[in-house]
Amino acid sequence: PRPVVAVVGRPNVGKSTLVNRILGRREAVVQDTPGVTRDRVSYDAEWAGREFVLVDTGGWISDATGMAAQIAEQAEAAIQLADAVLFVVDSTVGTTDEDEAVVRVLRRSRKPVVLAANKVDDQRFEADAAAMWNLGLGEPHVVSALHGRGSGDLLDALMAAL
Ligand code: GDP
Ligand code: MG
Repeated sequence: PRPVVAVVGRPNVGKSTLVNRILGRREAVVQDTPGVTRDRVSYDAEWAGREFVLVDTGGWISDATGMAAQIAEQAEAAIQLADAVLFVVDSTVGTTDEDEAVVRVLRRSRKPVVLAANKVDDQRFEADAAAMWNLGLGEPHVVSALHGRGSGDLLDALMAAL
């Protein structure tokens, strides 16, 4: 069976954009409005001759309180089914309570995690991406899902983690 990679992170960090970048086609729904991806959506992906299943997550976030808890819960469900996790954060925003909630779930899961510090469209945000070392999840892989920057190195790291 193909290994499963769950793409997790709080809304709007660029998970679906990154999924599309990895797939090389626009299939995952990208939206400026957080929480638009419904449930979990699986896609067949390939890198360097290795096939894997990419699971985009998100959605069903209510505007009510407990947003971090809801995000963590969704991440947990996806992580349980995954062999490895691609954790996406937004370098331009920095870490939030929602990010920290996902980190706690990731630690408990003991699954291999590859950290993507997204939205580094240009060098201005490289220092912000480096600050993601503070999450304690190892090297933040600097990427711009929008422009494709760093996606090859990220995928190499992901394959090494599988
Ligand atoms: P998701 O909620 O985590 O799936 O995030 P989406 O993929 O739907 O993206 C949310 C917003 O961030 C959209 O407006 C994207 O165009 C934007 N976005 C995603 N990746 C990047 C990036 O690398 N750079 C910039 N500047 N914007 C991005
Ligand atoms: Mg999405």
